[in-house]
Amino acid sequence: MQLTYDIIVVGGGPSGSTAARYAAAAGAKVLILEKDRDIGYPVRCGEAVSHSGLIQFIEPDTRWIASTVTKFKMFAPNGNFINPKLDDWGYVLERRIFDYELAKLAVKEGAKVVTKAYVYDLLRENSTVVGVRALIKDVKTEIRAKIIIGADGVESRVGKWAGIDTTCHIRDMESCAQMMLSGITIEPETLEFYLGDEVAPEGYLWIFPKGKNSANVGIGISVEKAKKKAAIRYLEEFVAKRFSNAAMLTHIAGGVPAAKTLPKLVAHNVMLVGDAAHQVNPLSGGGIITGMIGGMLAGQTAAEALQKNDLQFLKEYEKRWQKRLGWRHELFYNIKNSSSMLNDETLNKICNKVSQLPVEKQTLGAIFRTALWNEPSVLLDIAKVFIS
Ligand SMILES: Cc1cc2nc3c(=O)[nH]c(=O)nc-3n(C[C@H](O)[C@H](O)[C@H](O)COP(=O)(O)OP(=O)(O)OC[C@H]3O[C@@H](n4cnc5c(N)ncnc54)[C@H](O)[C@@H]3O)c2cc1C
Repeated sequence: MQLTYDIIVVGGGPSGSTAARYAAAAGAKVLILEKDRDIGYPVRCGEAVSHSGLIQFIEPDTRWIASTVTKFKMFAPNGNFINPKLDDWGYVLERRIFDYELAKLAVKEGAKVVTKAYVYDLLRENSTVVGVRALIKDVKTEIRAKIIIGADGVESRVGKWAGIDTTCHIRDMESCAQMMLSGITIEPETLEFYLGDEVAPEGYLWIFPKGKNSANVGIGISVEKAKKKAAIRYLEEFVAKRFSNAAMLTHIAGGVPAAKTLPKLVAHNVMLVGDAAHQVNPLSGGGIITGMIGGMLAGQTAAEALQKNDLQFLKEYEKRWQKRLGWRHELFYNIKNSSSMLNDETLNKICNKVSQLPVEKQTLGAIFRTALWNEPSVLLDIAKVFIS
């Protein structure tokens, strides 16, 4: 195989493929290295995305959409629920096909993809990064590139090798578990969320439908809470009560960095995107679309830097991310921290107040305003983001 490229992308998830796609579209010679045998597998994700987020990158296609969701149900700790209106609709994906399609879009722009290619170090000459060291189909291989993009997910090592502090404070890490259940009765167009200390302390439990009789049923709670009782135990208890006859087809565990984006995303000629850069929405834990936005900005900036022959220009990526989503994630992070202080009683009160509104006024905005009313300190956090 060819051993010199303009850009090597480590990781073939949504962020990596999108970075490669936009860099290749702008004329760069790009290689994606993916450690697994197949792009898109194994899936460690609830697979929910919004329509408006998705169409920035790809036209929805029934081949990789398991469900189209138009409704949203939020259960308070006392079992009452509200059915807020969704401004946008969304999808539950089949990520093993979706990720594959994203990689194909990168290939269409001219990028190369190699699977079973595990990157185990950066390649340096005179302390400058000049490529990566990888085990490609079990053969040690050195591949050279001017720019490396680390899209290697939540357990990223590319950043650390380049000297970027990628630590996620334990209080910002969400511990997640999920089962793909089949043979169950659900509302196929409705996303369900459950809140409260008993079901998901400092987090939430979700049911994301995949067709009529299957769903991703998962939970994300703070690592602090998970130390006392593992996320999977909460999930098992919920499933035993709600879906006692379900068949469990898959079962996964994983972490989500529900943090602010890393302050540093670039170190000389190494850039980070997606989960590796903590580009996840800290409030929802969603990282597919946000990672793709990070990937697009990184890919475009990298190609521009090559055209200008100026690696200093890569720093522009940090500014572009901050302007596009970084500032919002800071806001969401502060809201998350304040809302995790909402106890069961307050959550019940919020649900009760919102459910008394006329149905057409039961929106996510109404929930948010009611929550602010009950926890005014959130307002201070929001003010801080705008002032700083
Ligand atoms: C339980 C759970 C549920 C979730 N639900 C949702 C949801 O409903 N909606 C949503 O938007 N987000 C969700 N997320 C978050 C979402 O899955 C991630 O934010 C998203 O996958 C990030 O994409 P990425 O490309 O940055 O990383 P990944 O998708 O993790 O891709 C990283 C890739 O890099 C590869 N790699 C790693 N190290 C190396 C190496 N050394 N060499 C070569 N390749 C390497 C990996 O094999 C992998 O393919 C969920 C996460 C979890 C854990």
